[in-house]
Amino acid sequence: MKEFEIDKSKPAIVTGATGYVAGWIVKRLLEEGVTVHAAVRDPADRRKVRHLDEMAAKLSGTLRYFKADLLDQDSYTEAMAGCGIVFHTASPFTLNIRDPQKELIDPALLGTCNVLETANRTESVARVVLTSSCAAIYGDNADLEQTQRGIFTEEEWNSSSSLNHSPYSYSKTVAEREAWYIAKKQSRWSLVVLNPSFVIGPGISPHATSESFQIVRQMGDGRMKDGVPDFGVGAVDVRDLAEAHLRAAYLPKAQGRNIISGHNTSLPEIAKALLPKFDAYPVPRRILPKWLVWLVAPIADKSTTRKFVSRNVGLPWRADNGKSVRELGMVYRPLDASIRDMFQQMIDNGLIPKR
Ligand code: NDP
Repeated sequence: MKEFEIDKSKPAIVTGATGYVAGWIVKRLLEEGVTVHAAVRDPADRRKVRHLDEMAAKLSGTLRYFKADLLDQDSYTEAMAGCGIVFHTASPFTLNIRDPQKELIDPALLGTCNVLETANRTESVARVVLTSSCAAIYGDNADLEQTQRGIFTEEEWNSSSSLNHSPYSYSKTVAEREAWYIAKKQSRWSLVVLNPSFVIGPGISPHATSESFQIVRQMGDGRMKDGVPDFGVGAVDVRDLAEAHLRAAYLPKAQGRNIISGHNTSLPEIAKALLPKFDAYPVPRRILPKWLVWLVAPIADKSTTRKFVSRNVGLPWRADNGKSVRELGMVYRPLDASIRDMFQQMIDNGLIPKR
């Protein structure tokens, strides 16, 4: 017996449908026979939508495109018309930026207002599922010390990120806060928030731009051959995260914030999981000393500051995923499977040179 019923009577809108995470959400919806309103910046950009068309041709649901931009007020009106569920995934996920306000905060925050205010005006909408992030729960690994139980939970909010320190995490925090503010002022639709940790696993699009790919790519293209910082992270498979979105949308009891994270792990552990299958590749085999990372990282990569290194490297990461298991019925796949599938896909797509 199915754990939850998918309502196929109304379409569902997916914002940022061209994205890494959204690709798998669209796939699962189409598999279930749902009509998907894919809100994308440029429906005519074949490079960005071809993979969705190819997928839709094989699945029972219907895919329709709508042009929309987070920064264009009202641009989601047509795409949302008649929809029962709003999946709001669109938000820039990039660490390499020049102007954090323009490139991260504005699209995340104004985009969330734009999408949720459109939901307020769209009578058919019953639920909004927001793809927030664990980045809205914590800012730095050092914040673990301030938690009640020595573990990050849905109770915590990121209070250490700012425009100048981890601006991506700041963008996710202000956007989620705004979403709750807008949701609490009305009662027609419910808001369910997902707070995923670092997302890994194969993408549907070969041209995925998510920061997830940039980080894993470095483990295979030689840039980390001398070692990897001991940086604690959480990890979740992109396919599990898509499943969480469906559950958040269609399980009546889904509510509140939900940490979606399969594993409390670290960059060295992720690299180690690759070695049995990809021993021929320059996967990092040793841990870089913290002092060396502190000295060199800001020179090698402008987005990494010494403050970031001090407050994250050599410090563990732990989050409690218990609510997602109890309330959404999540079952997470093993870390090895996710990272190996992703690495193999990056070799097959030429993102990691074949050995
Ligand atoms: P992607 O970069 O693959 O997807 C981001 C999406 O947002 C793209 O579809 C992009 O469209 C869209 N977008 C960006 N700016 C705008 C804009 N101005 N107007 C309209 N659309 C815009 O990243 P992910 O799939 O990884 O991220 C999806 C969501 O998941 C984000 O909200 C992210 O914060 C969240 N998340 C991701 C994690 C991860 O590890 N990957 C972890 C936790 C949360 P376009 O294709 O046109 O650029």
